[in-house]
Formats: sequence, C-alpha cells, structure tokens
Amino acid sequence: MTIKLKRGKEDSLLRFHPWIYSGAIERREGDEDEGAIARVFTNDGQYIATGHWQIGTIAVRVLTFDDEPIDDAFWRRRLQLAFDMRRAIGVADSDVNNTYRLVHGEGDNLPGLVIDIYGQTAVMQAHSVGMHRCRQQIAEALQAVMGARIANIFYKSETTLPYKAGLGQENTFLLGDAADDVAIENGLRFHIDWLRGQKTGFFVDQRDNRSLLEHYAHDRDVLNMFCYTGGFSVYAMRGGARRVHSVDSSSKAVDLASANVAMNFPGDHRHQAFAEDAFRFLQQMDEDAYDLIILDPPAFAKHKDALRNALKGYTRLNAAAFSKIRRGGILFTFSCSQAVSKDQFRMAVFTAAAMSRRKVSILHQLHQPADHPVNIYHPEGEYLKGLVLHVE
Ligand code: SAH
Repeated sequence: MTIKLKRGKEDSLLRFHPWIYSGAIERREGDEDEGAIARVFTNDGQYIATGHWQIGTIAVRVLTFDDEPIDDAFWRRRLQLAFDMRRAIGVADSDVNNTYRLVHGEGDNLPGLVIDIYGQTAVMQAHSVGMHRCRQQIAEALQAVMGARIANIFYKSETTLPYKAGLGQENTFLLGDAADDVAIENGLRFHIDWLRGQKTGFFVDQRDNRSLLEHYAHDRDVLNMFCYTGGFSVYAMRGGARRVHSVDSSSKAVDLASANVAMNFPGDHRHQAFAEDAFRFLQQMDEDAYDLIILDPPAFAKHKDALRNALKGYTRLNAAAFSKIRRGGILFTFSCSQAVSKDQFRMAVFTAAAMSRRKVSILHQLHQPADHPVNIYHPEGEYLKGLVLHVE
C-alpha cells in the first residue's frame, strides 16, 4: 500500500515522530486490509517512512524511516537491537533477574509491540492490527534472537487490540505451552499468572523503584496500597520492615501478594493482606499506623478527556495518605497515566500536601526503568512518574 500525505504534513516525520494522524493523509492506494504495511510519500512524491496502516486517529505507526523491506531480516535486526540494549543495561542474562521488558513499543522503534520476558517465557502483546498480523514473523525472529533462552512464547492480545478490527483475538501460545513459572527480580521470586494476570502478568516497570523502597523499609510500618502481586511488599520485607500491610480491592491480587510474600519469607508473620477499597481503607485506618506508604494506583486517566477527574483522584488519594502518615514518614506515590504529565501529577500531590497542612519535601523523582526506554522523538512514551516524599 502507498500513502500520499497532504502538503506540509511531513513535518513531524522529519522530526522522526512515529505516528501519522488520519487527517494528514491525502490519498491511499492499494486495497489491502487493515494492518497492512504502508510506504508513505510526501505530497511531492518523496519517500518518507514505512509503517503499519490502521483505521482510526493514528493511521500509520512508523516502523522505519529508511526505505527497507519489512521482512524476516527486519524483525530479527530490530529484536537483536532490543536484546543487545537489555544486555547492555544489565537486565538480560543477569544472575539476579530473569524478568524484564525486551520490547517497549515506540521506545524500541516498534510502535504497537510489547514483549516481556519471564524466565524462559516471552509474553507478547500487540497493540496494533499490524503487529497482530506480523505475530508469527515476530515470534520466529524472537526464537532466532533468543535461542535456547526461551522455551515459550505466549501471545496475549485479547484486551489490547481494537475490537472493531474483528480479528477474533485470542490468548494463545505461539511456542511451547508452559503452565506456571516463577519470575526472579533482584533475587526475589514471584508467581506470574500471564494467562489471567493484568498486563503481561506483572508490573515489570517498578523494578528500580521497588529496590529504592527496600532501602527505606528498615524498622518501618509499611502500607502497600494497590499491591497487586505484592511487588513492593516483598521488597519491604527484605528491607527489614517491622510489619507490612498489602491492600488491593481485588481478592485475587491479595491472594497473589500473600503467596509471593510466603514464597520468599515462609512462616514470616510480619505480613498481612487486606481485600479492601483504597479510599475506604485510608479513611478507616488509625492515624500514625504507618510510616512508609506506597500509593501505586491504576491509571486514573486512560484518555485526555478523563484528565480533570484523574487529577482530582490523585489529589484525594494523596491527601488521605498525608493526613494519616506518621511524623517522619515516607510516601512513595505514583501515576502511570500517560495522559497526566509529570508537572500535572506533581501539582496534584502539591495540592494534597497543602490540604493536609503537612510539611513535605521531595526526596526522589522517579520514572520508568531503562528497559522501558522513551523514544526522544516521542515524549508521550514517558508514562510512569513517582515522587518519594518526606512528611514531617
Ligand atoms: N503496585 C503494583 C501494581 C498496581 S496495579 C505492583 O507493583 O505490581 C493497580 C492495582 O490497583 C490493581 O491490582 C487493582 O486491582 C487495584 N485497584 C484498583 N482500584 C482499586 C481501589 N479502588 N482500591 C484498591 N485497589 C484498587
């Protein structure tokens, strides 16, 4: 398929932004299906990019700005680059880690594709129709690059593909058929339920922030709010916390957190988990009960239109924590909403601090780890932000 842009609409592509909006397109030639490979030309007929075409606001997700074929060798080259980078930053082929993100969409110049590695299992997610159509080719390239390191490839796109494309999405193994597996992160072990779990089964993006939390946990009373698999709880236990309480509204998450703590610290009674709504728990808990609180909620704003309410949500949540945390307490607070900027999040937390009239200082400003790279031409890819605060 070829696409011709309207006059002047190539500007963002000259700055290597990887998306072409539907409004920029003058004409599309070739009758191929959604997800087809499109070669894109300026209005003057100059080649500018190649990518996956899709119906919707983002009409093309750019795979390359060089006029090259998107063939087996292309996928192999790109996955090799991604793997080499994970080795360079120390997360792949490491003795203490077998869990990392191998491909992070635009951050790896592969918009629409996510691949997480859990031991010998790769979990692959397509967020675009084009990546869905290329899944077999990608799986083959993955085997070529990873060799004996992986034995299973689980394809999990049921919830990430546009349902209107009518692809009959399913979650299925493209290689192997592993049942349960254990992921190792910084030497700690986690059960991963990639079949039914959220995202690819685990929140790989909090690895570095959990490590930092471990250093603050000694002798503290810890509340891990929105605990999911209990990632922060397990690190707090290793860090020498006095007690650790994990809270999540999902009872499945609470069971998973308890199982993960028990796997790493069998018979250790410092941990307790509660299936409870976050806001209700914060409202009902005693003042001064905790001096280390983690707030890692789900994305409050999935879209720009939800922004105002999302910011109010962050303010309300953080205000509840500020009002109860013990003097000298530490608060780890996060937002993973892509639509909320770092400054907007900080303003929401600032408002919460002012409402509670506490003295608050920022100790650390946190973000996603290096295996979730941000493409410098695609700043929208910076989604995870966090603050570590000292509360007097
Ligand atoms: N901190 C986790 C990831 C959190 S994901 C980690 O490090 O892996 C967000 C979690 O918030 C989900 O498990 C979801 O079940 C839970 N959740 C969503 N709404 C909630 C609410 N109102 N109260 C408590 N938990 C909630």
